[in-house]
Amino acid sequence: MNLKDYVFVLGEYHCDKHCPYCIAKMNKKETLSFERELEILQKKLEEFKEKNIKIKNFILSGNGEPSLYKYDELKMIRDIVMSANVFEDYRIQTSGNLFMDKEKLSLFDSWLKEITVITSNPKEDQEFYNYKKNYLSSKSFLSSNRIRVNIVVLKSNLDKLNKMIDFYDNLDNVETIALKILDNSLNNSEESNWISNNAIRYEDINKIIKVINEDYKFLNFINKRFIYETKNKKKLTIHYSESNTYDVFNLNKEYSFHNRKIKKGIYGEFSKIEEELDEAKEALEQGNKLMFLIELSDIIGAIEGVTEHHGLDLNDLIKFSNKVKESKTYE
Ligand code: SF4
Repeated sequence: MNLKDYVFVLGEYHCDKHCPYCIAKMNKKETLSFERELEILQKKLEEFKEKNIKIKNFILSGNGEPSLYKYDELKMIRDIVMSANVFEDYRIQTSGNLFMDKEKLSLFDSWLKEITVITSNPKEDQEFYNYKKNYLSSKSFLSSNRIRVNIVVLKSNLDKLNKMIDFYDNLDNVETIALKILDNSLNNSEESNWISNNAIRYEDINKIIKVINEDYKFLNFINKRFIYETKNKKKLTIHYSESNTYDVFNLNKEYSFHNRKIKKGIYGEFSKIEEELDEAKEALEQGNKLMFLIELSDIIGAIEGVTEHHGLDLNDLIKFSNKVKESKTYE
């Protein structure tokens, strides 16, 4: 079983929100036409089916807001992806605009709908992001099922983090909450400078962990995510490295926290172990111990992918390794 996410990014930049940290503007990624992206998606899905690769989440994202694509285009993607039978679950990221279009929203009724906020106050959120329709207090949003909330962690909202988490935790339609650490390309763009001045960066994750540990139960650390449980027993995650949590396959340009280019591998294949190993070596070169530990844990995840791909279980592998160690002590 492949447990990673797969994100499909629609290329055109159209957005109704004005995030001061806009990743699309900051990185100005070259993307392909809708037709070409669809072709690549179909080919990828075929490949996954042939290799019997199962992926946990399909994530429909955008270089802008996905729901500004035409109804027919969105339906086409939804139908192709769902009929492929490769993914366990489906997610669409939205600026909130999706909740303002009933027809398009109905396409994704069974999907997780992922929103990004900086506060639990709808008016404040609208003012900060400067969008026209206040979706957070709309009937459509409040009555929609399957919501995932990303809370962007800023220097200015760190002390209110737990209150915000509790607010969204108490909404029945919210399934899961994630704390979002903004990525920074350090390219001297307006957006990048805004992030440097206002966001809590991944190097300061300990500050977030300290606040979260006060109220929530830590469960696990897996795939670069700290997993906690909210008071209502929902999943609360902190992405340590936003750019590496997804396997983006239709962008020409990628960015990462590593200082040199690292060849991407495929989960379930040896190439993924090589990628994680290379990342661990690079983290050591940077002298970044936390990143090094995370990359080491990712090597285990990559080994797990290969073992499962060959019909084996990581636990059996560990037991076997222990047996080998024992036998060596008697030699
Ligand atoms: S929602 Fe996304 S594309 Fe739109 S402004 Fe914000 S970061 Fe940029």
